[in-house]
Amino acid sequence: MAPVHTSVNPMNASGPVPSTVIKAPRGRGELLLYLDFDGVLHHEEVYWTPRRGAYIKPEGHALFEHARLLEQVLAPYPTPRIVLSTSWVRAYSCAKSAKRLPPSLRSRVIGATFHSEMNEDAFATKARGIQVFEDVCRRRPRAWLALDDDDFNCPSWCRENLVHTHHELGISEPSVLAELREKLQLAHAAFDSPTERARSPSCYHGPLSPSAP
Ligand SMILES: [Mg+2]
Repeated sequence: MAPVHTSVNPMNASGPVPSTVIKAPRGRGELLLYLDFDGVLHHEEVYWTPRRGAYIKPEGHALFEHARLLEQVLAPYPTPRIVLSTSWVRAYSCAKSAKRLPPSLRSRVIGATFHSEMNEDAFATKARGIQVFEDVCRRRPRAWLALDDDDFNCPSWCRENLVHTHHELGISEPSVLAELREKLQLAHAAFDSPTERARSPSCYHGPLSPSAP
């Protein structure tokens, strides 16, 4: 049986595409970081006009002002891959959104929770926590974290995987930054070591995957 998500249309003019040519979503068995932008890498109040494009309204803030900080936090860990969970993807596409990141973060991006084969209206009605949860089920990472200022409807068993950021200061708020560093260290240990994986409280390793590969 073909996976639920396919990177190609399972039907074409000559009939169903053989399941053997359907690619698995990227990120399986890896350490994933689900990344929101607004309220994480910069202030949450982002506006857009045709003339200015995206901009931060409150004075004293700039778009992606904390991107370098995330770059520094991730620098000791080469393995984490990034999945964009930000609403920027629906406005600008995954590739164009990723281009706003510094090169070392951009090179880690493997996809987004939203993709063009989804029904955008249906996706937009789901809470952020559900959007991330469904992507975790689809990609089946070995360990994962989510960076987001929105914790609404995050499934209770996913909360340990969430670093809930400050709406205005994002990851630069000291307690948030400390939590990010701690959970990243634990997630990386869980990714690297089966023993640590079993002990780690920050990563859920239960029945994320509804079926065996
Ligand atoms: Mg946000």
